[in-house]
Amino acid sequence: MKHLPLWVEQEPRPTGLTSDLPAEADVLVVGSGFTGLSAALRLTAAGKTVAVVDALEIARGASSMNGGFVSTDIKAGVKTVFEKQGPAIAREMWDASVRAHERARELAQRTGALIHDYGAAAVGKGKRDLDDIRATVDWYNRELGAGWEVAGPEDIHRFVGGDAFDCAMIETDSFGVHPARLAFGLAAEAKAAGAVLVDRCEVVSVRKENGRHVAETTKGRIAAGEVVLATNGYTTIRPSDKLAKKVVPIGSYMIATEPVGHTVAERIFPNGSMAYTRKRLLHYMRRTEDDRIVIGGRRTLHPGLDLDESAADLRKALICYWPELEQFEVTHVWGGRLAVPFDLIPHVGKVEGMWYALGYAGHGVALSIGLGHDLAGMILGEDPPSVFSRIPHRGRFYWNGRTPWFLTPASVLYRVLDRLGR
Ligand SMILES: Cc1cc2nc3c(=O)[nH]c(=O)nc-3n(C[C@H](O)[C@H](O)[C@H](O)COP(=O)(O)OP(=O)(O)OC[C@H]3O[C@@H](n4cnc5c(N)ncnc54)[C@H](O)[C@@H]3O)c2cc1C
Repeated sequence: MKHLPLWVEQEPRPTGLTSDLPAEADVLVVGSGFTGLSAALRLTAAGKTVAVVDALEIARGASSMNGGFVSTDIKAGVKTVFEKQGPAIAREMWDASVRAHERARELAQRTGALIHDYGAAAVGKGKRDLDDIRATVDWYNRELGAGWEVAGPEDIHRFVGGDAFDCAMIETDSFGVHPARLAFGLAAEAKAAGAVLVDRCEVVSVRKENGRHVAETTKGRIAAGEVVLATNGYTTIRPSDKLAKKVVPIGSYMIATEPVGHTVAERIFPNGSMAYTRKRLLHYMRRTEDDRIVIGGRRTLHPGLDLDESAADLRKALICYWPELEQFEVTHVWGGRLAVPFDLIPHVGKVEGMWYALGYAGHGVALSIGLGHDLAGMILGEDPPSVFSRIPHRGRFYWNGRTPWFLTPASVLYRVLDRLGR
């Protein structure tokens, strides 16, 4: 079993993307995932000089290795925002998520990364799940015109095979991408547009000098008019411990089986739809272009879990959902990091004079692309402040940005609530 994202093996990172660190740029973008690359695309199109630096390789964070589900909405659910903060802000967040989704679709089409366009099924079992799905779909269709559907026991097998699930909320607008193809495609576009991409270049500190930002990196120094922190789940106390305290890094792990053959893949995902369970410690599953089945999730919330143990857990879940998959080997396992803000709403803002957009909580393919674009619009003075910049973004007194001790008790609590169906 390879410790390597299947996506990156299928779509190797292009060579020739990177350059040396320039001495200056109009905008320094820290982090070369979807957020940073999307911001860089808009900034370069407006004539700015842009340097995108990454502590790892280009797009080596979550953007090239995720599940590739591209959906509207936010992790907290616009319905929850509606109930807690009122209809106006909820509507704005929904509209922003739809714009982000449209932008992601456009880029996915352009880079050849759009591979499934049949929606996503949030799967459940039993009457309570079905009632809850009906109420949720009613609300999203009535208040937001989402156009989602309910699949009950009579038609669930149009979307997901097997006996494990008998109902689903069908998010008809979701589509599936090849994450590495999209991420490396965007990196290539950003470079072609004039952005300078620098890999293995960690920004360790940023200070203000004569009205400009001066960043110290592991490859030297760069001065920039503006700095964008696009570090999401890889945000640490360097260069801003204030930002690190606002989001908690959480691990997410995935495995891929060997190709299972067209007949088996068709039985499991008959129309190429994708699926995820309606749990806190959820699983997300889909098929690939070459008829493998991939599943992602986590045993606990911790980043940095052992990959072989994670693979064993995920394989067990896969076989529990579809016993016929027991005969197939798992060929790849990998893991990455999400950034989870305490309110489960993404945030755009400024910290210590630097711009940031992050906190997608595992619901970030569309949003990172959309918010990177919107953040660039704010820097250029072309867009009004994003709705995600107009809500408070608070940390918690017990989180210092360094050791997330509370993830163990939170994982236990989530497991219990999931078992109870709460
Ligand atoms: C396994 C997994 C599955 C997922 N599945 C889905 C899914 O199916 N659908 C969905 O919507 N979302 C999913 N997500 C979430 C989604 O991938 C992310 O929200 C999105 O990719 C975030 O993009 P980003 O550019 O903000 O961050 P990233 O792509 O994580 O990039 C951040 C980058 O910042 C760099 N960095 C950090 N600190 C520094 C520094 N000091 N100096 C220089 N560079 C630095 C890191 O090296 C990293 O490359 C998943 C995430 C994971 C990990």
